[in-house]
Amino acid sequence: MRLPINMLSGLGLACLFLSLTTFANEIQSYTMNDYKYVEKIDVHTHIHNKNTTEFVKLLHKDNFKILTINVDYSEFPSLDQQENIAVKLHKVYPQYVAFAATFTVANFDKPEWLQDTLQHIDEMVSKGAVGIKVWKNIGMDLRSPDGKMIVLDDKHFNPIFDHLTKKNIVLLNHSGEPKNCWLPVEQMTVLNDKEYFRNHPQYHMYLHPDFPSYEQLMAARDAMLTKNPGLLFVGVHLASLEWSVDELGKFLDRFPTATVDLAARIGQLQYQSNRDHEKVRVFFIRYQDRLMYGTDLSQSGEQAQSRDQSNKDFNSDAHNVWLRDWRYFNTSQFIQVPELREPVQGLVLPKIVVDKLYAKNARKRFPNAWK
Ligand SMILES: [Zn+2]
Repeated sequence: MRLPINMLSGLGLACLFLSLTTFANEIQSYTMNDYKYVEKIDVHTHIHNKNTTEFVKLLHKDNFKILTINVDYSEFPSLDQQENIAVKLHKVYPQYVAFAATFTVANFDKPEWLQDTLQHIDEMVSKGAVGIKVWKNIGMDLRSPDGKMIVLDDKHFNPIFDHLTKKNIVLLNHSGEPKNCWLPVEQMTVLNDKEYFRNHPQYHMYLHPDFPSYEQLMAARDAMLTKNPGLLFVGVHLASLEWSVDELGKFLDRFPTATVDLAARIGQLQYQSNRDHEKVRVFFIRYQDRLMYGTDLSQSGEQAQSRDQSNKDFNSDAHNVWLRDWRYFNTSQFIQVPELREPVQGLVLPKIVVDKLYAKNARKRFPNAWK
């Protein structure tokens, strides 16, 4: 059978259009092969191991740099130990490892606490810290001697934020939890939250209405930012607005000096992109200067003991997570992720957006890091 001439040329044009589109996507987006050639920074890790030779080899091979963040968290080594390790890693591998320090809030209501804390912050910055982390224990654990829950805009902390603002020191803040934490398990959006809160009812805020609400914690954080307009702020974990790119966009519009990292919340973005792929893609393009790639890769206490096998496991986990995320941001492939039952289609972000997400925004926020 012979096809009419005009139908043939129509088919030809359609084929040409398709191959041109594929070609254009290839030019505008990175592929899996580009992974090792593009500089990448993971701005949210917790490395507690002095013996990192193999990990640094992986950083080199995968073309990654990291920010390791100290946290006042009982399941991590003591703050002193975390600081010593971070300072040492940064000294030995300044081109690969930068670190953020933190401070203790024990005795925050004692008169000497403020002076000691300011001094500690300055000392850590002089040793190379590029930021200071304030964790969710403020707002979810810390109480005044009369039992009142202390939140982020409490008057005790403002001299600290004022100090950071004046000295251009970045504040990394984890306020609250994913919004899922305030929902019944069956309404939670991602599998990892369902599992975690089912197994840790003590942290499942839906069961503890006597603690501050999600909205109160977000409001306390926003009030602190309003009081400190010049503060160089990083809202870690998507500033706990992981459940809605619309709400996150409003937050970034409201606080122009704020940026956010994606650590441990990419699954929440994938939950949203599975429902509205274009909306999440447009969000990344619109806020391309405000987003930083991060994972929350953490070495457990056991791994900090530098046991060979657990180090190997950690390194291969890191490589797999980095590769999986790269596939999501750069390709249109469908991938299986641990947070969701259904496969997730990649966002095929433009190269220019990926360059900012993976490195340029981190270098801008932390200009003294990775030299
Ligand atoms: Zn973390």
